[in-house]
Amino acid sequence: MINQALIQVKDLCKNFGDLQVLKGINEEIHKGEVVSIIGPSGSGKSTFLRCLNLLEEPTSGQVIFEGVDIAAKNLNIDKHRQKIGMVFQHFNVFPHLTVLENITITPTLEKGVSKAEATEMGMRLLKKVGLESKADEYPRKLSGGQKQRLAIVRAMAMEPDVMLFDEPTSALDPEMVKDVLEVIKDLADNGMTIVIVTHEMGFAREISDRVLFMDDGIIAEQGTPEDIFKNAKNPRTIEFLSKVL
Ligand code: ADP
Ligand code: MG
Repeated sequence: MINQALIQVKDLCKNFGDLQVLKGINEEIHKGEVVSIIGPSGSGKSTFLRCLNLLEEPTSGQVIFEGVDIAAKNLNIDKHRQKIGMVFQHFNVFPHLTVLENITITPTLEKGVSKAEATEMGMRLLKKVGLESKADEYPRKLSGGQKQRLAIVRAMAMEPDVMLFDEPTSALDPEMVKDVLEVIKDLADNGMTIVIVTHEMGFAREISDRVLFMDDGIIAEQGTPEDIFKNAKNPRTIEFLSKVL
C-alpha cells in the first residue's frame, strides 16, 4: 500500500566544483512504491540516488528519510543508512568472505544479530535467489549474475526500508539479466520500496508505479509507466525514448 512519504527530497542541489549536477530536485518516495529513474547518461541519475543515502553529500537541500533530515550537518548517518540498501552496477561483494559470510557479516557486526540467527537468515535468503549450494564458495567462483543476486540479498539481510539500485544489470552478460531482474521483481511484489536507475525500459514499464525522467540535473518529466512510455509530453523525454526503445 502506498501511504506516507518514506523519503522526501527538497530543493536538492549537488555541485562538483563548478559543475552543477543536481539543480533543485523535489520528490517524494512513498512506502511500498517502485520508482524507476531513466534518462541520458550524465543527467545526474547516479548522483541523485547516491544523495538519497548520503554517499554523496548534497550541496544544499534536504533529504528527509523517515522524518529525519539525513543531509543535515553533524548527523550520524550510519544508523539511518542501515535502513537504506544499495546495489550498484558493479557487484560489490567482499571477495575474501564466503557467499554466506558476505550476508552474515554486517548484521552480526552492526546490528548485533547472533551468528546462528544470521546464518539461518543467510541460508533462507540464498535459497530464495537460487544460491543455496554456493554458501561456502568464494565470490570469485560466481558468475556476474550470481554475484549480483548475492549483492541484493546481502543488502536485504539488513532488513532495509528501501532498496536503491543503480543500473544493477548493465554490467551483466545478457543471459544473466533476467535472473537478476526476477529477484528485483520479487522484492517489488513483496512490497519493498524500490528506487531503481535502469536502462531496461521493458522492466521499468512492468514493475514501476512511477517513472522519473531525468535530464540535465532535474526531473524533467514523471508519471505512470503509461504516461511516460506512451504519452510523454516533454520533447526531451520523447527524444530520449526514441533512442532507447
Ligand atoms: P548518470 O548516472 O545520469 O549518468 P551521474 O550522476 O553519474 O550521471 O553524473 C552526472 C554528472 O556529474 C556527470 O557530468 C559526471 O561526470 C559528474 N560527476 C559525477 N560524479 C562526480 C564526481 N565524483 N566528481 C566530479 N564529477 C562527477
Ligand atoms: Mg549513472
